[in-house]
Parts: sequence; C-alpha cells; structure tokens
Amino acid sequence: MKKSIPDINQKIKNGEATILTAEEVTRLVMDGEEPTVEDVDVVTTGTCGIMSGTAAIFHLPVAEPGSFKKSRKITLNGVPGFPGPCPNEWLGSVDLMVYGTSHSITDPQYGGGFLFKDLLRGEEIEIDVEDIDGNILKSSATLDDFGTAQMIGTRFAFKNYTAFINPTSQPVSSIFNAVDMDGPFKGISFSGCGELNPLQNDPQLNSIQKGTRLLINNSEGLFIGPGTRSSPEKPNMMITADMKDMDPHYLGGFRTGAGPEVYNSVATAIPILDDEILRKTFIKNEDIRLPVADIRGRHSVLSQTTYQVWRNVDERPTYEKELCQNCQTCMVEERCPTRAFQNQTLNPVRCFGCGMCAYSCPFGTFQMERGQVQIDWEGKVKELEVSCRQSDIKRARELARELKNRIERGEFLLNNNL
Ligand code: SF4
Ligand code: SF4
Repeated sequence: MKKSIPDINQKIKNGEATILTAEEVTRLVMDGEEPTVEDVDVVTTGTCGIMSGTAAIFHLPVAEPGSFKKSRKITLNGVPGFPGPCPNEWLGSVDLMVYGTSHSITDPQYGGGFLFKDLLRGEEIEIDVEDIDGNILKSSATLDDFGTAQMIGTRFAFKNYTAFINPTSQPVSSIFNAVDMDGPFKGISFSGCGELNPLQNDPQLNSIQKGTRLLINNSEGLFIGPGTRSSPEKPNMMITADMKDMDPHYLGGFRTGAGPEVYNSVATAIPILDDEILRKTFIKNEDIRLPVADIRGRHSVLSQTTYQVWRNVDERPTYEKELCQNCQTCMVEERCPTRAFQNQTLNPVRCFGCGMCAYSCPFGTFQMERGQVQIDWEGKVKELEVSCRQSDIKRARELARELKNRIERGEFLLNNNL
C-alpha cells in the first residue's frame, strides 16, 4: 500500500490520522510489534542541543529618523552584531545580524544564545550604536520593538555527532564540554538525541525538501536546504523561522569551556507514504554509532559507542539541599552552563539536563543517572561516566510531542513536496 501527502492531510483534517513520535515507533518495534504503512500516517522527530550555526537577522529602530547617517558598530546587551547589509541611511534604525555564538564584550559568561532567550522572554535589552562619525547612541528595546527578528540556522540538527574524551592529564578548553575537560578519562561528553533525531529517521532527507514545514523552537519554520558542511554521510539542515513566534523554553545560551554557545530545538514530521519510509523510523539508539574522539582534535576517532547513553538515564537531576555543605565556592554554580543553579536554588525551567552538577558537586547534593560508556583504549576496556550532555532529550521529546499534538488537532498540515 502507498499513500500520498493529500491522502494523509485528508486523514488529519478528518481527525483519523495516526501520529506517533519516533520514540513511540521504536518502542512498538522493540516490544515485538510490526507496524505497517496502514497503521501509521506521520512520525514526528525532535532534537535539542548546541547548534553553533545560529544567526538572527534583526531590524531595529535605535533613534529618531535623521539623527545619524549610518551605523558602524552595534551591541545588544554587550553582544556585538554586524550592521547591514542594508545601510538604512538617516532612518534611525539598523539592519543587523547577530550570531548565537557571539560573546558579550562586557560579560564573558553572556552571549548570543542568552541574548535571544532574554529577548523572547520579553526582557528589555540595552543597545549601543556607534555611527560612522564616531557618535555613540544608547537606547533600549524589547522584541516587540523589533521590525524583523528572523532566525537562520545555517547547520542544524546534524545526523552525526562525535563524543569527546580527554586522554591527557591537562584540562582542555573546548566548546564540546561545559567546562575545561578534566583528564585523563575523567568522563565523556556527547551531543545528539539518538533515535528521536530528525536525520536519524530520514538520513537521506527524503521527506525534508526545500520549503518543508517544521518547528524551530516551537515556531513554524521552513527547511531552506542542506546546511553548511552537509554531506550525504553527515547531513544537516539549513532552516529559518520567525523568532517572534518562538518559545524561549526551547532555545538559550549554554556556557562551555571555550565561552558561551547557543542551543536550539527542532522537530520535523515524516509522512509515512510506504513501508520503506516507516522502516527507517524503526532505528533504535543501540544501532546508532557514536564515534569517540580526543577533545584536542575532533577528527582523530579513538573508539566507538552508541546512543545507548539515552537508555535508563535521568532527564533531570534531583537536588537535595540538606546535603549541601555551603562551600566557599560552589562548583555547581560556577559550572552550570545555563545558569540554572544560582544562590543555592535550582531553576528547573533553565535546567538543560546536562549533568554537570552531578558530575561536579563533591558532596552528592545533585543526583542524576547519566549513564556509562565503555571504550577500547590501547587494547583495554575503559568505563567512563557521562560527564556532560550537550543535548537535552527532555526538550526534544517535548517538541516532538508538541508537533504530534498540533498535527492531531489539524493545526499543522504536511507540505512535503514528495
Ligand atoms: S558544590 Fe555542592 S555542596 Fe558545595 S555549595 Fe555547591 S551544591 Fe553545595
Ligand atoms: S543538569 Fe545541572 S548543571 Fe546541567 S543545566 Fe541542569 S542544573 Fe545546570
């Protein structure tokens, strides 16, 4: 049996479509069931993690029209933007691009990802413009004041990731760990949402084509094309969406050993037109290869593991305040990459489930099952505890479920050009 996109859309409109998340499909298969194209109409996928290829295009009024000719420099909450390409001569406004990975010039712990979250939360941000004559203009704005706020993901939702270890005794600074990574073999960091990840379920991007609708941080966006450095073996996506429709829960800043980064969440809908498309969504964590590399050189793969790192683990830590020893310097507060733990208070909304608190607190105040990985090292098996997860399975599950719910309610029809 084969189905078409109009067939599936009609079923959605009639309230008769069966929508499952990629994890629900995999669970059915692991339980011994054999779903077919007749049983499933759409499979939703999701991922959340550090996505460095994040840029925002803004148009922003900063002064009265006629007050300056053209901007030369601009910062938003200290985060530098790139004025242009449109010069907006004498309009009192600035077209600019801000990278999610840009670092504040005033606070080394703050960057583009934190700025985007603050904007989406409705916070007022400080704007500093230097015009081409060297005049400084100061103003403030909220996202409502922005004429345009469009996100471009230049390389999102990669299919293939690498996990990292440090085999040396020297700490190594890298964007691939929340802090300088201790060694030798003091843990392992990884990214990716395994069997839920969009491109693990559609590795050739068969169902995702130019113009395909998807969710970016809960805003309905579009797939533009393959992202930078995308290849058939290692695909990723270039996508765009209106930031004004985004939910701040799904994006934000994430501090790393090499400065602040940005995380985002993406969900896609795979139309199940035939059994072959459905079978690709049967993929399970245990089948997905996770290469392990030396954090000092991301291309020297030392070993292999799989995304079993997501089996039987906790999504979030538990915090037992009574165990806290009130250390002079709290390692957790210093290291928590999303600033979820401050003043001995855990903010569950900001938590990313990275595990750095459970790894770092010497008194067991934070508990979190993070899983272990076995690697071969010079002929010996080493067992390493996961020290830092740079993907958040909880947010990925929430967005995949949100897309499923929207389709079930008839609010999201498929436009995949198949
Ligand atoms: S490191 Fe642990 S015990 Fe020490 S103050 Fe922080 S949470 Fe408390
Ligand atoms: S898991 Fe711990 S360290 Fe990571 S974001 Fe949550 S509170 Fe912070």
